[in-house]
Amino acid sequence: MTFDYDLFVIGGGSGGVRAARVAAGETGAKVALAEEDRYGGTCVIRGCVPKKLMVFASEFPAMAEEARAYGWDMPTGAFDWGGFKTKLHAELDRLEGIYRNILKNNGVESFDARARVLDAHTVELSTGERKTAKHILLAMGGRPVKPGIPGEELAITSNDIFHLDKLPGSILILGGGYIACEFAGVLNGLGVAVTQFYRGAQILRGFDGEARGLVSEEMIQSGIDLHLGTNILSMERDASGGIRVKASNGTERVFDQVMFATGRVPNSDDMGLQEVGVKLGRNGKVLVDEYSQTAVPSVYAIGDVTDRVNLTPVAIREGMAFVETVFKGNPTPVDHDLIPTAIFTQPEMGTVGMSEEDARDQGPIEVYCSSFRPMRSLFAGSDARVMMKLIVCAETRKVLGCHIVAPGAGEMIQLAGIAVKMGATKEDFDRTVAVHPTMAEEIVTMKAPVRRA
Ligand code: NDP
Repeated sequence: MTFDYDLFVIGGGSGGVRAARVAAGETGAKVALAEEDRYGGTCVIRGCVPKKLMVFASEFPAMAEEARAYGWDMPTGAFDWGGFKTKLHAELDRLEGIYRNILKNNGVESFDARARVLDAHTVELSTGERKTAKHILLAMGGRPVKPGIPGEELAITSNDIFHLDKLPGSILILGGGYIACEFAGVLNGLGVAVTQFYRGAQILRGFDGEARGLVSEEMIQSGIDLHLGTNILSMERDASGGIRVKASNGTERVFDQVMFATGRVPNSDDMGLQEVGVKLGRNGKVLVDEYSQTAVPSVYAIGDVTDRVNLTPVAIREGMAFVETVFKGNPTPVDHDLIPTAIFTQPEMGTVGMSEEDARDQGPIEVYCSSFRPMRSLFAGSDARVMMKLIVCAETRKVLGCHIVAPGAGEMIQLAGIAVKMGATKEDFDRTVAVHPTMAEEIVTMKAPVRRA
């Protein structure tokens, strides 16, 4: 049987574009890709990239304050949201152009259209065209979801934050995950009065307890009004134009804006997937095996639509492993173990491996931890603390987890992640000479465990 293409990719985000480019560019496969919205997907258009640029923008007032403490005559000045936003979107346009060009330059045919799966080898585009392919790759990503609270249509999500006409005077952020905590820091830095509600006992559930505790303490110190064990009961438009929020802690307050960061769901609705035999799991995630193959042998899925580890570099890895498996004849399972990650809170958290809580359940461990006021901000008169922590297996001496809360923790954990991934022991860390004076040197100078468990 002949097909129009060897591969049809649905979704032009980081994972889909990488798979399409490598399949076409490195194996000579005939590849097409359909994207209904903007090329670059969540990461480039409404996630990691614009978020990180907003993180940078939000850090300047604190830097100006620090500069004054270091003897500079430095006014903080005022933030021009309009000017920043124009530049931000010009940058996103530039990046989208790069993504389109990557496809073009590798000979991938792209369709600016929505695609649905019709059968194991056919997709139908919103233009009405039908295309056949030997393999179909689902890479549709995910989207923010609101939990069903009365009045929630008044709330924005992370998708909307980059398009606000003006920054609100006050905002309530609901949620305690990556997105809620990152935007609480960003907006606080930009001068918005930020309140955050989280329903659980501590933000950033799943991460190391001590690390979460320090991030939350520092967020509160920096001015974020964080309420734990608190949820929104209902919301309505107030006569003043604001949003009146009834909370589970018995309070009722009006905010200029409310943002829900209550999780994301896979974009698998109305794609014809179950009709052709692709199996879906909880929240509509596409179920795949270790090679990213779905229940239909010719259909594969990668990235957030599979809801495995929802991070851009993981989607890219999954895309490359798919090409390796299907187009290079080298079956390659995706390695989801020991993935380093950073949460761009202020201060940042960088983490790889097991939390202390998870490691305790696996066997005896030693915990090494140092929390201190770093030189730079201490000199400026700040009480801000940072934390370096290692979880070590008492038997093998292997470092099972590394958790860093500090400015630049994302950069640090990328490098520490290599050692942890290689299976480094505590003694390997110890015999590495410290780089002095840095914050990260603590990671190789912690002599005695703070506790054993
Ligand atoms: P998360 O799943 O991380 O967090 C969702 C938050 O919303 C949790 O705190 C959750 O509480 C809370 N929540 C869920 N349902 C309700 C409800 N009904 N009422 C009140 N609160 C609720 O999702 P995010 O949207 O923050 O991020 C999605 C994913 O995107 C992340 O998991 C991550 O993989 C990725 N991401 C990565 C980034 C990075 O690498 N720096 C940055 C941003 C996103 P509870 O904990 O109790 O369940």
